[in-house]
Formats: sequence, C-alpha cells, structure tokens
Amino acid sequence: MQTFSIAIHGGAGTLVKGMMTPDKETAYKKALDKALTRAYQDLESGGTAIEAVALAVRLLEDSPLFNAGKGSVFTADETHEMDASIMDGKNLKAGAVSLITGIKNPISLARDVMEKSEHVFLAGKGAMQFAKKLDYLLEDKTYFYNELRHQQWLEIKDTDDFKLDHSIKKNEKFGTVGAVACDSNGNIAAATSTGGMTNKKFGRVGDSPMIGSGNYANNKTCAVSCTGSGEFFIRGVVAFDVSSLMEHKNMTIKDAANEVIYKRILEIGGDGGLIAVDKYGNIAMPFNTEGMYRACKSSLGTKEISIYK
Ligand code: ASP
Repeated sequence: MQTFSIAIHGGAGTLVKGMMTPDKETAYKKALDKALTRAYQDLESGGTAIEAVALAVRLLEDSPLFNAGKGSVFTADETHEMDASIMDGKNLKAGAVSLITGIKNPISLARDVMEKSEHVFLAGKGAMQFAKKLDYLLEDKTYFYNELRHQQWLEIKDTDDFKLDHSIKKNEKFGTVGAVACDSNGNIAAATSTGGMTNKKFGRVGDSPMIGSGNYANNKTCAVSCTGSGEFFIRGVVAFDVSSLMEHKNMTIKDAANEVIYKRILEIGGDGGLIAVDKYGNIAMPFNTEGMYRACKSSLGTKEISIYK
C-alpha cells in the first residue's frame, strides 16, 4: 500500500535548549501540531499533496509565532513584504509571489498564480493587481503588527544591517514556514512562505519564492522546502540540488538532503535546513544550525514534533 506522509517546518537557527521559556516552547509545538494534524487528516481522507501543503502553510501563516503571513518581520520602511511559492510534483506546475503586502495568506495567492494564471512568478505591484482581480481582501497594518517583531526592527532601523527572523545575533534564526507531502496516490508537493528578513530593503527577495532554490517538487525525485540564509540557498540552488542528486546520482532522499545541508551549503557559507519527502513517503529533515522547528507524520504510524538537535 502507498505510504502517505507530511513534514512541516517553522524555520531553523540558533534554537538552543533552555534559551526559550517552557511556555513558548509549548506554544511553538502546539502550533506545529495543529498544522501537522490538520494537513495529515486531509491526506488521510484522500486529499492531494498540493492541498495538504497549502493547508499546512496557511495554518502556519495564521500563527504570529512564525515569520510568514501574520508573523512577518518588518522591512526597512516599517512595512511587511512577503514571499511564497508552491509546486506540484505530479505535473511540475508551480506558482510564486514576491514582495506582496496586506495579503493574509501569501501561499493561497501563490497557488492561484499556479492555477489561475498563465504565469509562474508574479512580484510586487503586478502580484497585488492579480490579487485584486481575484477579490483578495487586504488586511491593514494592525493585523501584521507584533510587538516583538517591531522591537527587533527598532533595534536596527536606520542602519544597513538586516536580520533574519528574531535572531539573538545577526543571521542566527530563520522563521520561514514550509510543508512537503506525499499523498495516497504517490504524488508529492512543496510549499514555502516567508516575511523575509527584518529591515530588508531595495526589494530584497530570498530563496523562498524561487522555484529550485527554496522550494521544489518533482514526482521523479522529491519535494523540498528550505529555510536558512536565503542568499546562499539561492546560489546553491538547494532544493533542486537535492532532486538532482537523487536523479543523477541515484541517492536516497536522506543521503541527498544530508549531502546538500551538511556539505554543499556549508562549503559556500550558508546555514539552515530543509524538509523533503519522496514518492514513497520517506522523509528527511536535516539542518546545520542548532535547531529547526519541525514536525512530520506518516501513515506508517510515525510522528515527530521537535525543535532542537
Ligand atoms: N530563507 C528565508 C529568506 O532568506 C529566511 C528564512 O528561512 O527564514 O528569506
């Protein structure tokens, strides 16, 4: 029988045991569990991989804990610019949006780009026009306001510094969210969503909306969603690299994901992690940082919700 499974992440970084209050740790695990359970139920009742990853990411976007949707970080202009992408491994269809504002669920807009437009990637003003055409409601600034995120921004505003999501020191924690799933027909899909980096400017775009870098899915190999230092993940074409190692070097999903996260991305100076699934429902969740908010569940009966190494 076909195994079906799902994995999700809420970002990687300097997540050291003891640094977070027990209450906060519980809140993160609860948010991960909710998204995981709902998306798994979807798969269990015959839902497709693309539906499951879109649902999981939507739920993570609705939580203020993660740097995506509601919890997105502030840009240098004290606004929120969000990026998201989704890909269906069955037919290699993909949709992505970048530099969008006011949209509650960027992943839904990315999915609409995939399903309701002739294009793959819409950015900025044009993406917003597309959303308007589809009657998306716009949330005002108060929906995205978050005391902690604002404080992080105040600390570096008016400087050239830019930070990944609530890092203790520069570049130490990433809060992007993502999901990968394999459904009961052996189809796989990936979705990724982010608010990017605190104090980002000049229309900075990370790896999350870039098909092949932060997100990729192909039934032949695997579905991948990444989190980490976006500039390096773009240059490493990380998600596609995992797929290529499986396709051309016959590697297992675990070996391919490990090769990229523990070797290739480190060699060029990048840090972070990824979640990946193959068409047999096998899951890999490697990260080269202290921790990664992550969870997975499979029809074989396995379930994991973890933060630390
Ligand atoms: N990869 C994301 C970016 O560079 C950050 C993250 O993973 O939180 O925009």
